[in-house]
Amino acid sequence: VTTSASPNGRPAAWARFRDWMAVLSDLSSAIGLVGWDREVAMPPRGAEARGRQLGTLATLVHRELIRDDVEEALRALEEHDGLDGDARAMLAESRRARERALRVPEALVRAEAEASSRCIAVWLEARPANDFRAFAEALAPLVGVKREIAGALGIGDEPYDALLDEYEPGSRARELEPLFAELQQRLVPLIDPARARSGPALPRRQWPAAPQMELADRLARAVGFDLAAGVIAISAHPFTQGAGPGDVRFTTKPDESDPMVSILSTLHELGHALYEQNFPVDYERTVLYDAPSMGAHESQSRFWENHVGRLPAFWRFLEPELRARFPEQMAALGADEMQRAATRVTPSLIRIEADEVTYNLHIALRFELELAMLRGDLEVDDLSDAWGEGMERLLGLRPPTDAAGVMQDIHWASGAIGYFPTYTLGNLYAAQLTEALERDLGALEPMVEAGEFSPVLEWMRAHVHARGRRLPTRELMREATGRDLGVDAFVDHLRRAYVERT
Ligand SMILES: [Zn+2]
Repeated sequence: VTTSASPNGRPAAWARFRDWMAVLSDLSSAIGLVGWDREVAMPPRGAEARGRQLGTLATLVHRELIRDDVEEALRALEEHDGLDGDARAMLAESRRARERALRVPEALVRAEAEASSRCIAVWLEARPANDFRAFAEALAPLVGVKREIAGALGIGDEPYDALLDEYEPGSRARELEPLFAELQQRLVPLIDPARARSGPALPRRQWPAAPQMELADRLARAVGFDLAAGVIAISAHPFTQGAGPGDVRFTTKPDESDPMVSILSTLHELGHALYEQNFPVDYERTVLYDAPSMGAHESQSRFWENHVGRLPAFWRFLEPELRARFPEQMAALGADEMQRAATRVTPSLIRIEADEVTYNLHIALRFELELAMLRGDLEVDDLSDAWGEGMERLLGLRPPTDAAGVMQDIHWASGAIGYFPTYTLGNLYAAQLTEALERDLGALEPMVEAGEFSPVLEWMRAHVHARGRRLPTRELMREATGRDLGVDAFVDHLRRAYVERT
C-alpha cells in the first residue's frame, strides 16, 4: 500500500477519505433539513411523499457508507502510523459507522423499516383507543427484528448492548444495571420529603402564545445562541436540528394555559442548540462534527433546563421580562411563585410531565423492561402487567389505562429500543458538569441572576462543545469533570434543591 505523505503530513489516501466524510456529512445535513421541514412546515398531505424522500436519502447514506471503493483508502490510513489524534479519531468513528452498515443485511434493514412504520401506525390508533392487544401484536415482530439486528451487529456482551451502542457508543447493559439500581435506591427516599416541601402549581391564567415566543427569542439571545446562525420555530414536539455549520434550528411549543412548559422546553432545546452551534470549525464536514452520544447531548439540555432554569436566581432574572410581557397574568405572581411551580414534585404517570426528582424512575422502569424483553425474560404480551407492577414499586402509582402507561411513549413503536437510558445518563452528566463548572467559576446563582451567561457558555464550550466527537463520552466527561460516571453529584443536587430548601 502506498502512503506517500501529503504536504500537511497526512497520506494521499487522506483526500479520498476526507471527501467521503464530506459527502456523508452533507447527506446527513440534508436529511436533517427535510425532517425539520416535515415537523415545522409541511402540509398534512405532504406526508406520503416526504416519507419516500426520507427513505431515498436514508438508502443513499447506506450505499455511501458501504461502498467498496473507500476500503482501500481506509486500510491505507489505518496502517499508517504517522496520523495525528484527530485523524485517528475520524478513522475510528468512520470505521464504526461503516461496520454497523455492513453487518446488517439489507433485508433486515427493510424489515425493521416496515415493522416500525407499521407499529407507529398501530400505536397512533391503539393509544387513544387504549388497545394494548393491538399494540402488542405490532410491537412483538418489531422486537424480534431488533433482536436479529442486534445479533447481526454482534456488539457488546448481549443483544441489548448492540442496540444501546447506537445511541450511547461504548455503553453496556451490565454497567448500567448497577447504576440504575443505586439510583433507584437513593431516589425513592427523596420523594416524600421533596414533595412535602414542594409548592403549588401556577394559578389558572391565559398566557398568549406570541409573547411566549418573544420570550424564547429573548432567552436564546441571553444565553448566547447566535440567531444569525440559527432559527427558532414552533412544533408539536420540541426538538433541535443541526443542518451543518451556520444553521442550527430548534423548536418550542407555547402552551396558553401554562408558560412554564415553553420556558423550560426552550431552555432544554437551547442546551442542544448551543452544543450544535459550537462544534469546532476544524471538524466541519467530518464525522467528528457531532456529539459523541445522545447522553452527552442530553447533558447539555438538562444543564440549561434543570441546573439553570429551576434556580431561584433564574426566575429573578426572568421576572422583569415576564412582567413586561404578561403584566396582568403576573400581577399577583413573583419570581418565588414561578420558581416553586417550576420545582413542584408529584409522582405522576407520564414521563414527559415528570419532575426532576421522579423523572429517572420512569427511565429506570423502561430500561428494566426493554432489557428483560431483549434478554427473553419478558414477553411483549406481558408488558402491560409488568409496567403496572413497576410503576407501583417505583412511584406508588398504577396507571388506570395502558394509554397512560406502557403506550405513552413513541420510542418502542419507532424501534428506538436502548434509547431511554441516554436521558438518565444526560441527567447524571449534567449534574457532574454543574459541579465541575461551579468549582471553576464559583456558584451559578449570581451569574444567572445577573444574566451573565457568557462565562457559563464559555466553560461548556471549552470542556464539552469544542471537543466534538473526538473522545468517547465517558472520557470526555471524565476530562471535563474530573470524575467517573456516577450518581453522587445528581443525588446531591436533588437533595440541595428539593429536600434542604426552605
Ligand atoms: Zn433532549
